[in-house]
Amino acid sequence: MYDNNNIFAKILRNEIACKKIYEDNNSLFFNDINPQAKIHVLGIPKVNRVDFSDFILNTDEKIITSFFLSVDLVIDQLSIKKTGFRIITNSGADGGQEVPHFHVHILGGEKVK
Ligand code: AMP
Repeated sequence: MYDNNNIFAKILRNEIACKKIYEDNNSLFFNDINPQAKIHVLGIPKVNRVDFSDFILNTDEKIITSFFLSVDLVIDQLSIKKTGFRIITNSGADGGQEVPHFHVHILGGEKVK
């Protein structure tokens, strides 16, 4: 069950500010408030999905493709395609997911620990 009051839902509704990196019709990318590497960007789709499985199983394929193409675009914009990066998505309690709106972490700009 999707919680409309999670922090990323509030960011999407412009109720909370974020440091925007990139936005299009289907996705929003912004800096993580507590960066774990020199570059730490979060990417979220504009559909209300709780986690990876919810997004993949319950979303139009065009939106899924658009989201992951945007991830690649942002990696390019951040100039970390050649130097390397890590994409992470946490899911559920054991995965350490804190915010219940599907998102990916993009980490780079240095050797990621
Ligand atoms: P996760 O543990 O995968 O759910 O990651 C949630 C991430 O959201 C963490 O890395 C937090 O630092 C980040 N975060 C929480 N609140 C905000 C916010 N208002 N703006 C940007 N990032 C946030």
